Amino acid sequence: MNADRVAIVGWDCASPWLVFEHFASAMPHTQALLQRGAGGRLRSCHPPITVPAWMCMATGADAGEHGVYGFRGVADTTDPGFVLTGAQSFRGPRPIWERLASRGLSSHVVGLPGTWPPTSDRIVPGILTPDDHPVPCAGYRYDVADFRNMAPLQLVSEISEMTVARFDQVEDLAARDDWNLLWVVEIGLDRLHHALWHHVDPTHPRFTGDSRLAAALRDYYGLLDNRLGRLVALLDDAETAFCVVSDHGARPMLGGIRVNEYFRERGWLTLHHEPVGSERLDLAAVDWGRTRAWTTGGYCARVYLEDPDPAFHEEVAEALRALPGPDGERLATQVHAARDLWPLRRGRSPDLLAYLGDLDYRCLGTVGAGPIHQPSNDRGPDAANHDWDGIIVAAGPGVVPAALPTSLLGVAGFLEDVLGV
Ligand SMILES: [Zn+2]
Repeated sequence: MNADRVAIVGWDCASPWLVFEHFASAMPHTQALLQRGAGGRLRSCHPPITVPAWMCMATGADAGEHGVYGFRGVADTTDPGFVLTGAQSFRGPRPIWERLASRGLSSHVVGLPGTWPPTSDRIVPGILTPDDHPVPCAGYRYDVADFRNMAPLQLVSEISEMTVARFDQVEDLAARDDWNLLWVVEIGLDRLHHALWHHVDPTHPRFTGDSRLAAALRDYYGLLDNRLGRLVALLDDAETAFCVVSDHGARPMLGGIRVNEYFRERGWLTLHHEPVGSERLDLAAVDWGRTRAWTTGGYCARVYLEDPDPAFHEEVAEALRALPGPDGERLATQVHAARDLWPLRRGRSPDLLAYLGDLDYRCLGTVGAGPIHQPSNDRGPDAANHDWDGIIVAAGPGVVPAALPTSLLGVAGFLEDVLGV
């Protein structure tokens, strides 16, 4: 028997270790769904970055098919420039709510990254929505501004308020009879991991053991679980399937590496003028006639090569693999050629993707004064990097435990199977 309705709750950045082990006792409703159905790890995509990852999950198509490789894309013109990713940037297969609509099924989508600007009045867009966009209810927030620089307990408080307002809105929508798919994504956890991970994870080199802050993160996982439980209680579980997912996990961020400076040292990146201090790479300042390699900052290095010679591509890949850690130690860096990750590549795709220390280190895009290795992020204090595995839990009619996807690219197809379409 299939489900008439699926309610899917996304916890951005939810960690399998915390949900299934460390905080499991604080999450009874999640445990109940696991008992009733199934759950496990959900592998993220390339790159495991929030905006492309959620849309890859919602469509079942990879970043190459969409032509979206991060929060910022690179314009596909002779003069490279950055463009902010929006809903219109995704050129590949359509998200599940549009596919369901073509079959006469209706959806509500709340907070899913990559949906700004919304394409329908049934979408409450997610992060990157401008602050002046109307909110669906009083107290609703699309995101918390300046989350990297707020005092931790203040941040927990503001994010908790944001989450309560989001799920109040979701409960209003859930109570209506006009949907078959209800998909909400809460971004709060991602923000809290960046602020609090080193208070919780004893493997973090900067682990503090601060039990008050560790408890604050545990309480927030408890809040997410509580709102999940309320949603389950509100809906008829004879006709409704439930699913909980995350787009990636979290792990300690050991530091940042300024890959553009590394390229400059090798003569692969040349600027018209020497930067005054350490600053973000301004593409207008690049001397393109004398530049062969450059990168954007982020959880991984998206490397763009301006020289088509395959031997040069291999030379850069080798140089990135050889890039040592801050104490000269060897890193477990993974470097992939774009053609190996994405058979089809729309738009201006990076040529290489480098996971520095396999996501232990963040890539910093800055150029100018200062060492290659930095203890933190160039955007402010940061304790966590994204990790490869997120979570999935599912239960209810139509849910076949053996058919649970292990990759986020399988989620949209799984939901269609649950609905029997
Ligand atoms: Zn995310």
